[in-house]
Amino acid sequence: MKRAATLAVRAGSVTIGGGNPIVVQSMCATRTQDVEATAAQAKMLHEAGAGLVRVAIDSTRDVEALAEVRARVPEANLVIDLQESYRLVTEVAPYVAKVRYNPGHLYHHEKRKPVRDKVAFIAEAAARHDIALRVGVNCGSVDPAVAAKFEGADAPGLDGVTAMVESALEHCRYLDDLGFTRFVVSLKDSDPKKVVEGNRRFAAARPDVPLHLGVTEAGMLPDGAIKTRIAFEQLLSAGIGDTLRVSLTLPFAEKWREVEVGKQILADIEAGRFRSVPKDFGHGLNIISCPSCSRVENEAFVDLAFKVKEIAAYARDYDITIAVMGCRVNGPGETDDADLGLWCAPNFVNLKKGEHELGAFPYDTVLDRLKVELDALIAVKKPVVSR
Ligand code: SF4
Repeated sequence: MKRAATLAVRAGSVTIGGGNPIVVQSMCATRTQDVEATAAQAKMLHEAGAGLVRVAIDSTRDVEALAEVRARVPEANLVIDLQESYRLVTEVAPYVAKVRYNPGHLYHHEKRKPVRDKVAFIAEAAARHDIALRVGVNCGSVDPAVAAKFEGADAPGLDGVTAMVESALEHCRYLDDLGFTRFVVSLKDSDPKKVVEGNRRFAAARPDVPLHLGVTEAGMLPDGAIKTRIAFEQLLSAGIGDTLRVSLTLPFAEKWREVEVGKQILADIEAGRFRSVPKDFGHGLNIISCPSCSRVENEAFVDLAFKVKEIAAYARDYDITIAVMGCRVNGPGETDDADLGLWCAPNFVNLKKGEHELGAFPYDTVLDRLKVELDALIAVKKPVVSR
């Protein structure tokens, strides 16, 4: 497979970029503090072939749990998803091969401190502990200062892509200035078109930096795999991409399928087996759902996502997006662009129509209200696809 000439970045026993085999990775969807479940899932993902296994960390109690997971699954190359408490990097670094930080999250914590100084803190910890970094930019949570600067810069349908790319480039410059070269970058969104556009632009500007590919909140099988495949086929066939993750909403016991789907997509591209992109892709019912992570507030979320897909099936020929998210932290923002959005709290589910909040509903009644809202949307729309 044609590959861009990126730098080689070692993370534990794998090397990303530099012409090395593309690393398939995955992430634990369990609560990090549930050590039994997290260790079991990390082991499952490693055994399925995940070169890197990511775990989200947001507190010192998470770090304590991480140490135990590390001890129980020493064979896995663990990666940490650093949330807003960036200073935790010094505590997690001894247990992991790589740390991912999100420039959008860095902006929010210790607002008076220059972002450059926070990056320096993270890079210094990474260098001291001999680990790699990922600058992980999400189109839906770009650093607000960068988002404001590039507002309106994109063509219709590609909103936020310029800000996403510029934010990634800015952080590359911070790391360059610090002399830190052991990093990869990711530019993700739930819309495959934005993922393709953002990664193409970034790769043209920084062909030396290894790229981690992913479509966020891709949803359930088979749609989630299709959305991801569309983006990966276009990028990998152009030589763009050194590691990847397929983000799917799956029952915890089946999380290994993320790795399986990733390996299958790679094998198909390698063998020249491209799936033709359905001509009308991007039209009709589009359900996006997060893969869940340690922030998920109620495991009933996975069941809810599957039920939403089931009850909304009758709307398949209408251009409608429904977003289902597992927590109150990212749920509100990540559902903004959907026609109907649901995000889960421990005992209730928030529902909104566009940006308008409709209220919080118990898990066992929210689907009734969702259906009422879906009926109302269909009543004013025309079917857009005939299948
Ligand atoms: S929406 Fe919340 S639960 Fe879902 S992946 Fe994102 S942070 Fe995790």
